[in-house]
Amino acid sequence: MVIKNRVLLLGVIISISLLGCKDAPQKQETINSGEGAPEVATQEASVQDSTRVDATANSAQEETPPLESLPDTAFVRLADYSDGFAFDMRYATDNNFLEETVYPCGECYTRVKTAKALLQANAVFKEKGYRIRFYDCYRPNSVQYKMWELVPNPQYVANPVKGSIHNRGGAVDITLETLEGKPLDMGTDFDFFGPRAHHDHMDLPAEVLENRRVLKETMEAHGFWSIRTEWWHYNLGAASRDAVANFVWPCPTAN
Ligand SMILES: [Zn+2]
Repeated sequence: MVIKNRVLLLGVIISISLLGCKDAPQKQETINSGEGAPEVATQEASVQDSTRVDATANSAQEETPPLESLPDTAFVRLADYSDGFAFDMRYATDNNFLEETVYPCGECYTRVKTAKALLQANAVFKEKGYRIRFYDCYRPNSVQYKMWELVPNPQYVANPVKGSIHNRGGAVDITLETLEGKPLDMGTDFDFFGPRAHHDHMDLPAEVLENRRVLKETMEAHGFWSIRTEWWHYNLGAASRDAVANFVWPCPTAN
């Protein structure tokens, strides 16, 4: 049975929880953000190592509360707010660059403000006959540690001590697909590491360049910024100073 209506008021919990914080001024890093990644303001990052949220605690709610009723920093399950997205959560499979399954199941959670921006961007894509397909969304900090163990290279994985914007609920890895479910050609697969995945790599078919342009321009118009080396990665600027989080979402049960 699929658990529905999971809204995690983690932002509130984080804001009042001081346990286990490692406060260290540092610069933002995102997974795979190598040289050329935009500078982000120095900030205090509070890693909520000890913060464990019982994500099923709110599952008894019958109604999905409207986004407008929730704090911008609350975490929500995107699929509860629209059936207009597609999901291909690669880290819940071994079809990713780690070649390991690091999520217990594939879910896309973001902070409320990120969700609002994604819903608006997706409405614009829909007018063009496309929709967002997600590869990754919020990533628990514990998973960041697991990824770092597998690939301890800051060129490919953000240092879990600092945390990435995925850990803050403000980053998504996405592509576009048609409303019939056919992915647009972006020139490389998700998590392809090399010049061909870079935004400034122009030696690509015109169709690929156009697809990337549509994705980038629309996301930027809705408050997201990109990093030079990954055509699929988008950060919500307004979320870059939020705390690193570590809750793990509930998975559907077999019965
Ligand atoms: Zn990413």
